[in-house]
Amino acid sequence: MTAFAEAMVTEPLDTILDVAAIRRDFPILHQRVRGGPLAYLDNGATTQKPIQVIDTVSSYYSRDNANVRRGVHELSQRATDAYEGARETVREFINAADAREIVFVRGTTEAINLVAQSFARPRLKPGDEIIITEMEHHSNIVPWQMLAQQTGAVIRVATVTDSGEVDSGVFESLFNDRTRLLAVTHVSNALGTVNPIREMIRTARRYDATVVIDGAQAVAHDTVDVRELDCDFYAFSGHKLYGPTGIGVLYGKMEHLASMEPYQGGGEMVLMVTFEKATYAKPPARFEAGTPNIAGAIGLAAAIDYVKGHGLAAIRAHEKELLDYAQRCAAAIDGLRIIGTAAEKGAILSFVFDQVHAHDVGTIMDSEGIAIRAGHLCAMPVMKRFGIAATARASFGIYNTREEVDRLIGGMHKVLEVMGR
Ligand code: PMP
Repeated sequence: MTAFAEAMVTEPLDTILDVAAIRRDFPILHQRVRGGPLAYLDNGATTQKPIQVIDTVSSYYSRDNANVRRGVHELSQRATDAYEGARETVREFINAADAREIVFVRGTTEAINLVAQSFARPRLKPGDEIIITEMEHHSNIVPWQMLAQQTGAVIRVATVTDSGEVDSGVFESLFNDRTRLLAVTHVSNALGTVNPIREMIRTARRYDATVVIDGAQAVAHDTVDVRELDCDFYAFSGHKLYGPTGIGVLYGKMEHLASMEPYQGGGEMVLMVTFEKATYAKPPARFEAGTPNIAGAIGLAAAIDYVKGHGLAAIRAHEKELLDYAQRCAAAIDGLRIIGTAAEKGAILSFVFDQVHAHDVGTIMDSEGIAIRAGHLCAMPVMKRFGIAATARASFGIYNTREEVDRLIGGMHKVLEVMGR
């Protein structure tokens, strides 16, 4: 720990989460990295897994492992029940109307590609317009570019203001009678901005545009209700929600899923196959060709139970306190610039130093056992918007503490010291 961090007065957070107990659930947190206790502040990239998730996956493999849907035997029945039970857990979590509206995919990236190829590709014509924003992650840009090349559709980009909010005037002005789709992130991974998606969806509705929400940075941090939002599609990844990697969710309104062609062909997504043709299963099986990530889905359900057990409102309040405290301290550091100062922010703090590369910032933090992100954060267009090549990013989760924020701030001072500023 740096002298600066040691000297800081650490007050307990006024939080209703029992963070000490929560930390005991996460075995990985209890280790030293480069001589210091690990401060894991890279939750925007992926979150750590509680023992409840690890045990659920382990016990599935130890006791119940079998392929789903196709077996008549006991283990296959158990695996199928657990897999379909996980779908119901996800349904309830995001308040979808029907568990058949929950498609298990690899993650947010695959979910968005599925919508682009299965929903949008057959529907879009040359000159049709897709609206995205300047703050999107590459996974909510590139699939639409590929689609635009395939269909002749045009991408229109809503710019962001200096504080990192979508410019509402520009946003409204992009809509017209050629608008077919709005694809927007709920929370920006690079800026932390929480977009006013309710209003954005309402605007899209006036133009009959279909709405796809990238919820990768949202679902672990606040309550999401897809019915209240009235979005057409909502995508998220299990691994950013304290669940396993390789599992994610595409929520889609049944009226859309039922009218979509499959994304991939293979086993389990068909009703009948001859060499001439195949007829397809109903959703969600239609979009889950091949053996799915069964353990991943079951682990994701355990992760959802875990966050629900603590309460999304309490998690949100805890992370907001961490963010507000970190922002206040960081803003007082000369030569440091916070990237993304929207009024509504998720638990993400991006920052740059004059004349210091973000990778050097990340390396200096790492030398103190503090894990943060450094780079373009898979959001190169928004980096360009802010005139930077890369940023350092601390992102908070359920188990982070004020002491860890103190160490982050201490690390920022060390950067200035080491780089001679
Ligand atoms: N969208 C956003 C906003 C993200 O932060 C990420 C992950 N960094 C993704 C999409 C992609 O998620 P995944 O890699 O899990 O598919």
